[in-house]
Amino acid sequence: MQLRLYDTLTRGKRPFVPLDPNHVRMYVCGPTVYDFAHIGNARPVIVFDVLFRLLRHVYGENHVKYVRNVTDVDDKINDRAARDYPGLPLNEAIRKVTEQTERQFHEDVDALGALRPTVEPRATEHIAEMRVLIEKLVADGFAYVAEDHVLFSPQAMNAANSGLPRYGALANRSLDEMIAGARVDVAPYKRDNTDFVLWKPAKPGEPSWPSPSGIAAPGRPGWHIECSAMAWKHLGEQFDIHGGGIDLVFPHHENELAQSCCAFHEARMANTWMHNGFLQVEGEKMSKSLGNFVTIRELLADWPGEVLRLNMLRTHYRSPIDWTLRGLEESARTLDDWYAVAADAVGDRPAEAIVEALSDDLNTAQAIAALHGLRNAAVSDEQARGTFAASLRFLGFLGQSAAEWKGRKQQASGIDPKWVEGLISDRAAARGRKDFKESDRIRDELAAKGVVLKDGKDADGKPVTTWELA
Ligand SMILES: [Zn+2]
Repeated sequence: MQLRLYDTLTRGKRPFVPLDPNHVRMYVCGPTVYDFAHIGNARPVIVFDVLFRLLRHVYGENHVKYVRNVTDVDDKINDRAARDYPGLPLNEAIRKVTEQTERQFHEDVDALGALRPTVEPRATEHIAEMRVLIEKLVADGFAYVAEDHVLFSPQAMNAANSGLPRYGALANRSLDEMIAGARVDVAPYKRDNTDFVLWKPAKPGEPSWPSPSGIAAPGRPGWHIECSAMAWKHLGEQFDIHGGGIDLVFPHHENELAQSCCAFHEARMANTWMHNGFLQVEGEKMSKSLGNFVTIRELLADWPGEVLRLNMLRTHYRSPIDWTLRGLEESARTLDDWYAVAADAVGDRPAEAIVEALSDDLNTAQAIAALHGLRNAAVSDEQARGTFAASLRFLGFLGQSAAEWKGRKQQASGIDPKWVEGLISDRAAARGRKDFKESDRIRDELAAKGVVLKDGKDADGKPVTTWELA
C-alpha cells in the first residue's frame, strides 16, 4: 500500500518515499516549557503520534526515528522563573520551571496515549551545534554580525540563486510582499526589516553562552536556529518529515528551512512538511482573555485521556477542529461501547481498512468510520473481536482493561458498587413479595444517581439484574 501525505511546501498530496526506508526520520516542534500545555498543544502530539505508529507499522519499529524537541531557552521561561521563584538566582529558578513543566508535559501526553518520541533533545544542550550553523551562515554571506546580534538575511538567500529554495516558498508569500508589509519600527541593527535573529545578546542575569566568532560578549540563540541545530544533530542535513501546528509555518518553519538549506547548500530540509490545523473551543478562538483557555491537565481531571484522543482524531488533522463538550460526551460514549465490545480480546494485526485510511494522508475520520464497522462485526465473532481490539490498540486506544475502564468511571461518579448491589438485592426481595411500589422506589433512587438497572435471566433461566452507569 502506498502511503500518501500532504506536503505544505508543494501544496499537494504526494506519495511518501523515505530517503532511506531503513531509517525513516521525522522532526516535530515540541513545547516551550514554561506552563501547562493547552489542548491546542495536544493536537500535534496526537496527530504525529498516529503518524509515528503508522510509519513503525509500515517500515518496522526499529526503522523510524521521531525527534520532538524541548525549547528550554525563551523569554517566557525567564519571566515565569522570575515570577515564581523571586528568591532564587535566575538560572536555578529557570531550571526549576523547565524541569517541572517538562515533567507535567510528559504526564499529560502519556495520558493521551502518545508514545514517547525516539529522542527529545533540549535546546540548551545543542548550543555548540547552533554556533557551528551560525558561523557557516555568516561565512557564506547569508548572515551578518551587527551590534552583538547575528542576523539572517532572506534577501541574501534569494539573491544567491544557486539551487536554494526561495525564501517565502513554504508560507507561499513573496519577499517583496513581506518587505512591504513589515512594520516600520525596524531594529537599528538590521540591514533589512525582513532579517531575523540567529543570535542575540543576553540581558544581565539571563542564561548565556559563548557567542559565535565576531562577538565578544556572551549571548543566547534565537528560537528558529534551535530547531535547525537539533534536527541536524539527530536526523542529518536532510530528512523525511517535518511537522508542527499550522501557526508554525511562518515565520518559524520558513526560517528553519532557510537556515538549514543555506547552511548545507541543499534544496530541501525535509522532503515533506506537515501541519495540523487550528483548534477552536466551542466555536471561538481559544484565548486567556476570552476565558476559554483550557489545559490538557484540566480536561484530564474530567475525562480519560483516550476520550480526548478520540475526540481529536474524529477530525482530519488538516481541518480546523471545534473542541466541544458535546463532542467529548459523544467520544466518551463511543469508547464505553468499544471497551465493552472489545472485551480485552487479543489480536495480532490491525484491520487493513484502518491502515488504508491512515495511508491516505492520515485520514483518521475514515479510520474511525472503519472502526464502527469492525465493532459491529466483533459483537458476534471471536476473530473479528481480535481484529477490532488490535485496530484500537494500533490507534492508541485500549490502554486499560475493560474492567479498569468501567471501574474508573464508577470511581469518578463516586458510586460505591457495594451500595448498588445492596439495593439490587433489596429490590429483588421486594419483587419477591410483590411489593412493586418499593421495587420501583429503589429503581428510581438508583436512577437518580445515574445507575441504570437491566433485568434479564441467567443461563439457568433465573431472573438476574445487572447495572451500569448512564
Ligand atoms: Zn521548531
